[in-house]
Amino acid sequence: MRLDKLLSTIGYGSRKEVKGLLKTGAVKVDGTAVKDAKVHVNPDEQEITVHGEAVSYREFVYFMLHKPQGVISATEDSLHETVLDLLELDDAVYDPFPVGRLDKDTEGLLLLTNDGQLAHQLLSPKKHVPKTYFAKINAPVTEEDAEAFRQGVTLDDGYVTKSAELKILTSGVESEIELTIVEGKFHQVKRMFEARGKKVTYLKRLSMGALLLDESLDLGEYRELTEEELALLQ
Ligand code: URA
Repeated sequence: MRLDKLLSTIGYGSRKEVKGLLKTGAVKVDGTAVKDAKVHVNPDEQEITVHGEAVSYREFVYFMLHKPQGVISATEDSLHETVLDLLELDDAVYDPFPVGRLDKDTEGLLLLTNDGQLAHQLLSPKKHVPKTYFAKINAPVTEEDAEAFRQGVTLDDGYVTKSAELKILTSGVESEIELTIVEGKFHQVKRMFEARGKKVTYLKRLSMGALLLDESLDLGEYRELTEEELALLQ
């Protein structure tokens, strides 16, 4: 990865600040001062020092992506763009993967990390991590729907969903709702509404556990989690 990106990533300031640092000759790669920010380095194989101190490359990365429609929540797909294609190369070097799946036509919060243990914790069916979705529905949504979701509905394969919380924002020919579920069956939100004879016409994930989508991210944009956000997930 680029030397300026690496130093910026591990806390030596913005790319601009790192450029200034490099100009002073304080940064050495395998003992030789490097002043060019664009130089590519391999921190696993090369020794990088700043003012004589070895820098430590961090193992884990955590990105919050505002997933747009049309991209697949997978690391590889021969036909379609994947969420990894939305990452800058310098971030992709960490080999992050999406924590769970959103359908191709679902938008919203998607966490990408290379921390398998955290991913496992968040996805484990035993942990019941709540996920809240905003959805548009092609019919009025009623208190009976809310009660049915509270009790659990039977999906097309016979599975009975765990208790879920439905908040009706508007109800009419096109309704708007928020639904919080504590599991992650395939197409779960869509299938829960199908079980009530209704169709989801738009779906967006707002939160996962205590982590909320940063609405200042445009569709397709991402950023690293803050330390506080990461602490919320652990
Ligand atoms: N439920 C769905 O139906 N689709 C998603 O992408 C996520 C939850």
